[in-house]
Amino acid sequence: MREFLKRHTLWVGFAAVLLPLLVLLGLQFVWLSKLQEVSAIAHKATLTNYLGGVGTEVEYYYRTLGERTLNVPASFLTEGRLEEVASSWSRTPTEGARKLFLVDFTEEPFGRFRVYNPDKKRLESPPASDESLAIIVAATPWQMVSYRKGSAASPVLSVDERNPDYRIILSPITDQQFKVVGAAGMILDEPYFRQVVLPAAIKKALPSVFRDAMMDDLVVTVRDGRGGLVLAPTNGAGKEETVTSRLPFVFRDWTMGLHSPRSTSEQWARASFTFNVTLSALLAIALMGGIALALRAANRAMHLSEMKSDFVSNVSHELRTPLSSIRVFAELLRLGRVQSPEKVQEYGEYIEAEGRRLSRLIDNILDFSRIESGRKTYDLVPIDLLEVVRATVKTFEVRLKPEGFRLDFEEPADRLPPVTLDPDAIGQALHNLLDNAVKYSQTSKEIRVRVFREGDSALVSVTDHGIGIPKGEQRKIFERFHRVGTGLIHDVKGSGLGLSIVHHIVQAHRGHVTVDSEPGRGSTFTISLPVTSRAAPAAAENSGPALETGVRGPR
Ligand code: ADP
Repeated sequence: MREFLKRHTLWVGFAAVLLPLLVLLGLQFVWLSKLQEVSAIAHKATLTNYLGGVGTEVEYYYRTLGERTLNVPASFLTEGRLEEVASSWSRTPTEGARKLFLVDFTEEPFGRFRVYNPDKKRLESPPASDESLAIIVAATPWQMVSYRKGSAASPVLSVDERNPDYRIILSPITDQQFKVVGAAGMILDEPYFRQVVLPAAIKKALPSVFRDAMMDDLVVTVRDGRGGLVLAPTNGAGKEETVTSRLPFVFRDWTMGLHSPRSTSEQWARASFTFNVTLSALLAIALMGGIALALRAANRAMHLSEMKSDFVSNVSHELRTPLSSIRVFAELLRLGRVQSPEKVQEYGEYIEAEGRRLSRLIDNILDFSRIESGRKTYDLVPIDLLEVVRATVKTFEVRLKPEGFRLDFEEPADRLPPVTLDPDAIGQALHNLLDNAVKYSQTSKEIRVRVFREGDSALVSVTDHGIGIPKGEQRKIFERFHRVGTGLIHDVKGSGLGLSIVHHIVQAHRGHVTVDSEPGRGSTFTISLPVTSRAAPAAAENSGPALETGVRGPR
């Protein structure tokens, strides 16, 4: 289990964050969907509330008007002082009422009807007309109460709208025993209601329910009893209302409607739902991306530290092997156990070759450290590449012979133009490639080195017929410390630095190194260098992955 966690840290870490995040997102989705439904209802309720507010404003206006105007003392009727009613009405503002009237039951049981003439400021007998008929019909209930000597518990305003052309508010006039002695009423002024009262009520109710920004969004319409539009702003006419409501006190057959021209309640709730879900999803994606990056970095750091500890053990082994050979051969020579001059020469060659191997390893380590710290410099000179390759191959052959290797060196047919390079560095890169060819060759002991030209590039390739490299590993082998960690490779010791140094050296020469390999068939590493000498100084810009270098110009 521990091993599994260690090996799949990235995925385990990612899953540990992703799962709760997905659960959270799921829960949020569910809650947001519920919220969407609730917000649609709440939005509708707010609109209805507003219409209720308009109704209340209208009712308040007419109740105040009614109570102020129709509150006639009974003594004016019982003591026959009707003219005082007229003079009181002449002093009271009565906007909203088209006509005021009075019914007196004190002298005639069916009532004496009087209408107020504002021009002459007096009460007059009404002519026979629809208006008079409406007044009579409206007053009939109070006339019945009066006729039966009934009483009204407290002054109440009643509304009669049976004839929509004559909407009447009526108030009974009661004596001290609450007996109904008359009734005062008003016929409502419909145009005044439509043009003054209604718009004022709408304007007053709006800010108490909605914030400023929402007001522009709302359109209020009012329809009369027959469905005809009596009030509608130009932009809202004909639109379907989101909510509708009846007026509560007068004009009860009229309907108020409210709708948002830009969005209905459902659209509004859906927009807010989509916005919230998108925002959450984006945040989750950003969060996951950040976590993936952090985990990747952590994973890389772990991997690198593992590779570094492998490197230490590999290098120790690499150092120990040649050192123990040198010790054994030197001891044999010191003790004089070897007498024949050929044997002495042979042992001397062994010691020399092992010593060289040690130097190369140490060179590699020192170079790597210089590259890492950006202190590596190159002494570039225009030189014949073939000469450099020849010299390197020659020193290497000393090592190959005793191991039974055959090195096939193929020179170019035509002379190569000079290449600007650091001979030591290119020699070291070639050495590393040859070293690998030997190390990973196994039974087939044939190595081929080829120098040739392709366009503007001079190329050196090293081919072996060894174990080969799987496709997926071919890019990674140029990274520092990376070693193909499967199969036979375990038996071959190495530092994992050789190819990363080759890569760096070649890049610093503005060239590139490629590999063509197939597991079980062998590998060909090719170094390609530009033949144009002018390209060389720019080499400093180019460096391998995480490697730094400095380049000195030609001496
Ligand atoms: P090492 O010291 O391990 O050889 P290198 O950087 O030189 O380090 O090589 C990196 C890895 O690339 C090696 O561990 C090996 O797995 C693989 N490799 C390099 N050259 C060859 C080759 N010629 N044939 C097969 N595998 C190779």
